[in-house]
Amino acid sequence: MTPDEFRKHAHELVEWMAGYMENVEQYPVKSAVLPGEIFNKINECPPSDSESFDDLMKDFNEIILPGITHWQNPNFFAYFPANTSPPSILAEMLIATIGSQCMIWETSPAAAELEEKMMNWLRDMIGLPTEFEGVIQDSASTATLGAILTAREKITGYSINNNGSEHAGTLRVYCSEQTHSSVEKAVKISGIGRKNLVKIPVREDFSMDPEKLWEAINKDKKNGLIPCCVVATIGTTGTTSVDPVRAIGEICHETGVWLHVDSAMAGTALILPEFQWMLDGREYIDSFVFNPHKWMFTNFDCTAYFVKDAGALIKTFEILPEYLKTRTKGKVNDYRDWGVPLGRRFRALKLWSVIRSYGTNGLCEKVREHIRIATRLSEMILKESDFEILAPVVICVVCFRYVRTGSTEDQINALNEKLNHQLNDTGKLYLTHTVLNGKYTLRMVTAQTNVTMQHVMKAWDQIRETARSLNN
Ligand SMILES: *Cc1c(COP(=O)(O)O)cnc(C)c1O
Repeated sequence: MTPDEFRKHAHELVEWMAGYMENVEQYPVKSAVLPGEIFNKINECPPSDSESFDDLMKDFNEIILPGITHWQNPNFFAYFPANTSPPSILAEMLIATIGSQCMIWETSPAAAELEEKMMNWLRDMIGLPTEFEGVIQDSASTATLGAILTAREKITGYSINNNGSEHAGTLRVYCSEQTHSSVEKAVKISGIGRKNLVKIPVREDFSMDPEKLWEAINKDKKNGLIPCCVVATIGTTGTTSVDPVRAIGEICHETGVWLHVDSAMAGTALILPEFQWMLDGREYIDSFVFNPHKWMFTNFDCTAYFVKDAGALIKTFEILPEYLKTRTKGKVNDYRDWGVPLGRRFRALKLWSVIRSYGTNGLCEKVREHIRIATRLSEMILKESDFEILAPVVICVVCFRYVRTGSTEDQINALNEKLNHQLNDTGKLYLTHTVLNGKYTLRMVTAQTNVTMQHVMKAWDQIRETARSLNN
C-alpha cells in the first residue's frame, strides 16, 4: 500500500469511525453470535496474492461487526467501563503511525520523558504523595504481578531473582475475599503459591476486616511463615467496596509488609476532591495501580502503576545485556526495567491527548455525572418494593436484584439469572452479575463515556417490565 493509497483508505476509515461513534447505539450491545460462527466464516488459508483494503472492509462489516460486543454503546452496563474517546483514538493513530519501541530512553526520548511527566500529572491528579514515581503498564494484572514480585524480592533481600526460591511455601500474601482474581494469578506466577494467598473475610459493606488481617499476619508469623504483601482494594470489581487503607496500612507498617493498592476502576474517582477519603492512609502505601483504560476515557491499554521505592522495582526487573548498554544509563528512565516486557508502546501520548482535551475540570465533570447517575438509579430502585439493593453504592456500580414475594432464595436466584439473560438477549442493554452472600446479584455500571440519565432510565424501565413479566 503506497502512502497515496493509505491516504485514500484512511480518509474513508475516519468517516467510518465518526459514523460508528454517532450510531453506536444502533448496534445490539451484546453480540448474539454462536461459538464458532465467526471462525467458520474466515478462510482456511491466508491469501497468496494481495487483496484490496475494500475487500477487507467489506468482510469487516459483514463478518466481524456482528461478532462484536459494543463496549462504547452507552447501554453497556456490564463488567466495567473500557472507555475510549475521540482524543484517545486520535493519539492512537499517531502512535501506530510512528510505531516506535519505547523500551529505553534512547529508543525514543520523547516517549520516556512524556511518560515520566504524564505519570506525575496523574499522581498529582489522584492525590498520591509526591515521592511516588509512575510507569505505564499494559494492565492492572501486570502491575499487580510487578508489585508482588517486588515485595517478594524486597523481603528476601533480592535473593529469589538470583538463587531461585529458597523460601518455597513460606511467603504469604493477603487480600480480601472480594479481591480481583488478578491477585491470585500473580501469586501463582510469582512462585509464592496459591495456597499462600490468605483471603481475609469482609465486613458487611464488603470491605476487608482489618482485625482479621492483623490476626492472620500474627498467626503466620508465629508459625514461622513470612508475611510479604497485602493487597488492599479501593473499589472492588463486584461492588466497588473500599478497603480501609489507613487501618490496613498501620498493620503493614508495624509488621514490615508491602502494601499494594489495587484501584483499577475506582482510581479515576480519586480525581474528585469529594472522593479523596478513599485514599486516607496513603502514606502507608508502597505501590498503587489504576487503569485510565477503564474509566478515564483512554482506550486500552493504559495502566498507571505507581511505586514509592522505584529502586526496589528496578532492582527486581533490571537486566543489562550488552546491546542495551547506553551512555544515558542512570540519568534517565529506561522503562523496560520497570516491568515485564522489553518492547513498549508509546502510550503516554494517549494520556497527554485525553487530559489536554478534557482538562482536569472536564474529566471531573464527566466522572461526577457518572456517579450521580448511579446514585439516582439506586434511589429509583429503592422506591420499588419488589427490588432490593444488595451493596452500598459507592461510585458507579449498583448491585441489586428482583424479589418476588412467596419465592424461596433458590427461586429468586433462578429468576434473576433468567432476567439477566432475557435482558441481554434483547441487545438493548447489557448487564453482568456477581454473587453476594449466596445471592445472584445484577450489577449495573454507569460509567460508559457517553452514558446519560436517559439511557439508565430507559434501561431501568426495561428491567422492571421484564422482571414483572417473567414466569417462575
Ligand atoms: C478490572 C480490574 C482488574 C484487572 O484489570 P486489567 O487491566 O484487565 O488487568 C484488577 N483489579 C480490579 C479491582 C479491577 O476492577
